[in-house]
Amino acid sequence: MTSQANIPDLSHMWMPFTANRAFKEKPRMLASAKGMYYTATDGHQVLDGTAGLWCVNAGHGREEIIEAISRQTAEMDYAPSFQLGHAASFRAASAVAKLMPQGVDRVFFTNSGSESVDTALKIALAYHRARGEGQRTRLIGRERGYHGVGFGGISVGGISPNRKTFSGALLPHVDHLPHTHDLSKNAYSRGQPAWGEHLADELERIVALHDASTIAAVIVEPLAGSTGVLIPPKGYLERLRAITEKHGILLIFDEVITGFGRLGAATASEFFGVTPDIITMAKGISNAAVPAGAVAVKRDIHDAILGAAATGIEFFHGYTYSGHPLATAAMLATLAIYERDQLFKRAKDLSGTFENAAHSLKGAKHVIDVRNLGLVAGIELESRDGAVGARAAEAFGKCFDAGVMVRYTGDIIAISPPLIIEEAQIQHIFSTIGDVLDTIA
Ligand code: PMP
Repeated sequence: MTSQANIPDLSHMWMPFTANRAFKEKPRMLASAKGMYYTATDGHQVLDGTAGLWCVNAGHGREEIIEAISRQTAEMDYAPSFQLGHAASFRAASAVAKLMPQGVDRVFFTNSGSESVDTALKIALAYHRARGEGQRTRLIGRERGYHGVGFGGISVGGISPNRKTFSGALLPHVDHLPHTHDLSKNAYSRGQPAWGEHLADELERIVALHDASTIAAVIVEPLAGSTGVLIPPKGYLERLRAITEKHGILLIFDEVITGFGRLGAATASEFFGVTPDIITMAKGISNAAVPAGAVAVKRDIHDAILGAAATGIEFFHGYTYSGHPLATAAMLATLAIYERDQLFKRAKDLSGTFENAAHSLKGAKHVIDVRNLGLVAGIELESRDGAVGARAAEAFGKCFDAGVMVRYTGDIIAISPPLIIEEAQIQHIFSTIGDVLDTIA
């Protein structure tokens, strides 16, 4: 699709999570973005069905964010993040805290989801140590969990291609809960599936195996996004919360995707009415205009860690760019847009239309499941002759060429548009997917 004149030398850049050789044979290049649309270098418009990588929740090119970043760059481009402060970072922390469940209001800044996850795991260990329970070091993740690409994140994560190359160097003492997805039980669920709450009880089995006194934290995505949109069964998160609380184990919700309105509430924690001890965030926190992330923790966790230090630095962790002036300026402008335009409510109001549009693909060629919650949907395709991902990859390319951006993982197509999407655009995304699937063998 891309005209040759606009293509630079592609040989030097090693692309992340990309089939580099295939891409470079047929590059799809983006040139600009505004509102709901990208423009490709060949000039064709692409409706953003995925909010970039689940992150541009307020839509592209928001003037207020551009202005805030540019004003901040001119005023102060950078401030050391250790031992010195600047106002925007403290204001941004308060603005983030305001959106968190009550009491989860101490905020540590990072630059990405992966950094947020590693920070959260370290906070969990530091908390137990501060309380004299330093033997609580075991971590529990979940199959098909995605928690970024740091060594901590891939250790608690449950995606084998992300782990196997590094299997000798993963964190020790990590267990995994089973994932909650079973097509024979919950295919074509609208919203939360009825089946699967009991899978949380696997945590009791792991606790019995190791003893609660050795376990620091459980980390899950309340709704697993990157591995194909796995919606938590009714009652499942509540049960995880009850079991972790009973055993003094911290519960971490990785809300890198679900934070900032994806489900029609500020957080999945609010949406499900389940309050974890620690919440990781990134993506929508700054509308992705500047890389940014954060970890929100319960006040008593923060206080325990600070209180345990006799004097001096309480937590030996942080990044050169924690609370970067540009990131925090972008966050403040982004969070103001979410509030002023009531975008989380908008997502909630649109979720019924979105659900019906997604489920209109039931019966479409190759489709074996449709699942959805808020403004996120997964469409699972039957794999072609054992070539997992081939059909979805083809659908991705053809949708892009037809002017709709989707994402795929394995043979699952994921849709997660900016929260500013219009109803007609929702219909257009799913009808385009249906048309494209019709053309695929
Ligand atoms: N956690 C979750 C739940 C994610 O979805 C992602 C990214 N998709 C990450 C962590 C990692 O974020 P990043 O790519 O910003 O490091």
